[in-house]
Amino acid sequence: MGLPARVPLIRRLPVLIVGGGLSGFTSALSLHRAGIRNNIITRETKFTQHARSGVFLGGSSIRILDRLGLGPQYRSLGTPLYRAVIEDVNGKEIISFRLDDYGMEVWNVPRQNLQQLLLESIPPDSVHFGTKFRALHISDGSAHVKVQQALDRSGQLIEPKAAYFESKFVVGADGNNSAVRSFMSRPAMTFYSGTSIWRAVVQNQDTEKYPLHIGKEVWGLKKRFGFARMSPDEVVWWAVLTDLPEVLLRPFAPHLLREFSDFPEITKDLILSIESDRSIYRTEMKRVWPEQFPWVDPSSSRIALVGDAGRPEHFGNLHSGHSFAVEDGYFLAHHLAEQNEKGMLRTGPKLGRYQESRQEQMIATKQYSARLDRLSLPQSRIQRYCVRKLLHISFERMALHGTGPRIPMFQA
Ligand SMILES: Cc1cc2nc3c(=O)[nH]c(=O)nc-3n(C[C@H](O)[C@H](O)[C@H](O)COP(=O)(O)OP(=O)(O)OC[C@H]3O[C@@H](n4cnc5c(N)ncnc54)[C@H](O)[C@@H]3O)c2cc1C
Repeated sequence: MGLPARVPLIRRLPVLIVGGGLSGFTSALSLHRAGIRNNIITRETKFTQHARSGVFLGGSSIRILDRLGLGPQYRSLGTPLYRAVIEDVNGKEIISFRLDDYGMEVWNVPRQNLQQLLLESIPPDSVHFGTKFRALHISDGSAHVKVQQALDRSGQLIEPKAAYFESKFVVGADGNNSAVRSFMSRPAMTFYSGTSIWRAVVQNQDTEKYPLHIGKEVWGLKKRFGFARMSPDEVVWWAVLTDLPEVLLRPFAPHLLREFSDFPEITKDLILSIESDRSIYRTEMKRVWPEQFPWVDPSSSRIALVGDAGRPEHFGNLHSGHSFAVEDGYFLAHHLAEQNEKGMLRTGPKLGRYQESRQEQMIATKQYSARLDRLSLPQSRIQRYCVRKLLHISFERMALHGTGPRIPMFQA
């Protein structure tokens, strides 16, 4: 397919990234660092989506930000977490550990600040806000990406217009319901897993009740409520419900108050501290079929997925989505840079390794998450002791190997 005559070509470039979330921006910045020109398209007209939420980054993702030269600024934006605690609804401790005992460095930062930091780190004309991915066609070694633009050059809203990009490689960083994924030759299907998460950031200065540097969760059967301080003035909370018989519609707060009525008072306090019901965001956890599907398009060799697009199945337990988004973006860029050095900006053995290593890591996380889940089941003290021991061993392994492969350097 050539470019249709009346549809304007916006740009011809080596890599086009679809999606302006954490995975898209990390891919873009990493590719720039490797000297590979790229652009991001994102459907939002500016950063608004879930702007007031917290981002937990830990493990390799922080070391990646260090490699990209953003570590000090990143750390200045938020609050470190030193300890994670899980209690039952009666306040009895299920598990508690110091994160640095396992070599984990975890920070909780406001999402909009991190997004801004990433935006300022890449060339300003390489991000196209208000530009929605519509379709993708590969021919003659190039990808033609059809988009719909809703902003003019000066950033003013316009009647959406069709346009094209032409690139050698397309990165699908467009989240859970990825449209790019559906253009892979073996696309995966997603469906609701029965678990939903509600999240909000609330104003709160009570550091005695909600201390700095501690992430806490309270676990009931098929229910969890957690919180962590993001700054001396703000607390981020999350509520997880599994196997709900009905879909909960807005307003969310009354439903959550009812579902968590047997939880400690702090839960109710935090839910009632929201500015308005609109400040609560709900995310549906997905299941995916087939469980393992290619992240690098096997037939065209010119499309790869990063972040939630490649991992629509979330593991709410370990707050891993943000970290994976950063790691995926960096590792894909690194493998692409190695391919590019050989003049082949497309799949090769290096990209195969990207896929293998990321999937290995996803399977490990799934196992850890399932072990953690087992702690919430009613069980004897001895059973709980065994699960706890197993978890400590898992965390130690995670600390030993990092959450991903060794972090390589770019040779730009
Ligand atoms: C409110 C909230 C709180 C969360 N809290 C946590 C947490 O505490 N810990 C954790 O680890 N994870 C959390 N997550 C999950 C985490 O946000 C994701 O795992 C992570 O952000 C994935 O990043 P991503 O870049 O892959 O996708 P996303 O952040 O979803 O970004 C996808 C981007 O693609 C754009 N896009 C989508 N479709 C198109 C299209 N057709 N054309 C153009 N652009 C498109 C979207 O507008 C968006 O900018 C949370 C999610 C939400 C919604």
